[in-house]
Amino acid sequence: MKIPILDLSPAYRELQADLDAAYRRVMDSGQFLLGRELAAFEEEFARAVGTAHCIGVANGLEALQLVLMARGVGPGDEVIVPAHGYIATWLAVTHTGAMPVPCECDEGTFNLDPARIAALITPRTRAILPIHLYGQCADMAAINLIAVKHGLLVLEDAAQAHGARIQSGAAGSLGNAAGFSFYPSKNLGAFADAGAITTNDGDLAGKLRALRNYGSRERYHHEALGLNSRLDELSAAALRVKLPALAAWNARRSVLASRYRAQLAKVGDLILPFVPAASEPVWHLFVVRTTHRTALQQHLTAQGIGTQIHYPIPPHLSGAYGHPTSGAKRWRRGDFPIAEKLADEVLSLPIGPHHTAEQIDTVCGAVRSFFNQR
Ligand SMILES: *Cc1c(COP(=O)(O)O)cnc(C)c1O
Repeated sequence: MKIPILDLSPAYRELQADLDAAYRRVMDSGQFLLGRELAAFEEEFARAVGTAHCIGVANGLEALQLVLMARGVGPGDEVIVPAHGYIATWLAVTHTGAMPVPCECDEGTFNLDPARIAALITPRTRAILPIHLYGQCADMAAINLIAVKHGLLVLEDAAQAHGARIQSGAAGSLGNAAGFSFYPSKNLGAFADAGAITTNDGDLAGKLRALRNYGSRERYHHEALGLNSRLDELSAAALRVKLPALAAWNARRSVLASRYRAQLAKVGDLILPFVPAASEPVWHLFVVRTTHRTALQQHLTAQGIGTQIHYPIPPHLSGAYGHPTSGAKRWRRGDFPIAEKLADEVLSLPIGPHHTAEQIDTVCGAVRSFFNQR
């Protein structure tokens, strides 16, 4: 494949000397969990996000799940989630025993549509869990207003939005707490599974430190039914090397996104991502829409251009949530028409900090030639 959708090896090569030194430091220390590297990374990441606390955990799914657990969300409760997005957000709710309540998204931004939230609130609703999808912040001002009015927790799924900003601040600092993933392909990725929670709530942070470690703050004193969900020292050390590069890498993505926008405006029935005023997305993915998606994807594949679909099956139609034991409602096609349409039309084009302008131009040329031939 000539142009992969994302290539992770150049990031390692760019920082290889520092990463190798960091790994060696950990191996020499003989401490592999809950050590100095994690404590230092937690401080550095909290500072970068602009929150008082950061709690490193094993992955993004458990980051979200742990916050809900810490706030006592469980069986009988409901949590509002986006109908269009990744299934992990729903699973974090389901694994607490609570029920995910899907809410349609705005077609332009792909994010939770605040105007549709109020109608979904019941006496059982405990939290709103917006995703900053594809690297762009959800409309947090509107979401927070609704949450305050109804006394709900706001938990951001910031797994795709490291460094994204809107008027009021950075992703991860815009609700009561946020879950981040450092899965290797994220804008800030480790070389294994890893995740973190950010929050300004000191009481919540303390509970989370226990919950990620078998519910224990003091060895063999177990105050809560916790998980084993720790961010390991090797990953923390690697993330400390990569964090200072994040802003520059996001800026490179932004330059490439502008290049796409300039060359793909008014091409066929292609719909480009909408960026509201005061939103500074970090282009985790560059997602276009077309009713000719299958043919366009085949055309690009034939030219050696990698694409992906994020995501082809909305969670409400997935096997997981169709199953009677999922504890969820049984949804049908047609229940969330916007999410279903997006699942049928979205296509992610190559974007990453190590793609070149020439590669993006090649992709644009191939997209244009596809629509010209029609
Ligand atoms: C990656 C991702 C997650 C899950 O993160 P893991 O580290 O893979 O558990 C959750 N939500 C969204 C939106 C994601 O993109």
